Amino acid sequence: MIEDQRHLISPNRKEDDDRHWESIRPRTLEEYIGQNKIKMQLKIFLQAVNQRNEALDHVLFYGPPGLGKTTLALILGRELGVRVESTSGPALEHPGDIAAILTNLERRDILFIDEIHRLNRVVEEKLYPAMEDYRMDLVMGQGPAARVLPLELSPFTLVGATTRFGAISSPMRDRFGIICRLQFYSPGELIAVLNRSAGIMGISLLPEGAAEIAGRARGTPRIANRLLKRVRDFAQVQGNGQVTGKIADRALTEMEIDGEGLDSMDRSLLIVLAENYGGGPVGIETLAAALSEDKDTIEDVYEPFLIQQGFLQRTPRGRVLTPKSYDHLHMSLPESMKSSELPF
Ligand code: ADP
Repeated sequence: MIEDQRHLISPNRKEDDDRHWESIRPRTLEEYIGQNKIKMQLKIFLQAVNQRNEALDHVLFYGPPGLGKTTLALILGRELGVRVESTSGPALEHPGDIAAILTNLERRDILFIDEIHRLNRVVEEKLYPAMEDYRMDLVMGQGPAARVLPLELSPFTLVGATTRFGAISSPMRDRFGIICRLQFYSPGELIAVLNRSAGIMGISLLPEGAAEIAGRARGTPRIANRLLKRVRDFAQVQGNGQVTGKIADRALTEMEIDGEGLDSMDRSLLIVLAENYGGGPVGIETLAAALSEDKDTIEDVYEPFLIQQGFLQRTPRGRVLTPKSYDHLHMSLPESMKSSELPF
């Protein structure tokens, strides 16, 4: 059961998203909802390079999973009228892998590298001259007989996406001309995402239904779309097919997603912190072990939303619960926290 819940709420990409949901992925900047500052900047850069017929500067998108980084990379390709070659950090194991891709790129093409923080050092170092001067050294043969063949590459754009900005080395970071941090979406923006998706998929979504789902989707379009799909099933089986506020509420409650959009894993994290560690501070390793969950998953997937919503604080000494968490869990504040809450 818990596995099912994690599957539903996790903003990580699931296979079904890509297979069945490709049609609802926005294809142009006009269709892309929210992230207005980023869109405005990109529009100007795109217009400028299209006028000059140059390659766009290298772009780095960062932020929690499911916020639309891959979508933006694909949109850039469409707006530039070029091909997008997609790969990911862990898929590029050997320098030869990146060399093969780079030499096949045509003028102004986009190379999209997802999870770019997971590139290995050797591959990363191959990328530096490619990004800087569109050139690369190809090493032929091995040992003393090895020869270096300098290669000219077509001017291209590297678009990187990452959930962890801090894990990217500074030489890599410095080579991106455009760095954009994606934000969580407001309920109003998520309602727009849901209405758009419902329109494409022929779902009858009433305003209260959309508001109910949007309020519980962790500020994340991927989760909003996934919940819409599940709620539609409930509406079909238990109602007349219309996604009303009542049906959405019932379905989401059944899926153990509470009124703040927290799922069972979020609540377990808060409860463990409260019950086992007196509200913290507690280190991430300890927390990961107590929850039998991967440390990176906690940091990338669960914590950003809990922190943004004010349930959790990250301090140099570890994670600390906030009074809002105790309130949400209907637990009384520990004495230590009561005194620190005094205004004098
Ligand atoms: P990321 O690469 O950040 O993990 P994606 O770009 O794959 O996220 O987005 C996940 C899904 O959410 C997409 O399939 C798309 O349908 C939807 N989505 C993301 N951003 C937007 C947006 N701004 N407007 C509408 N739908 C969006």
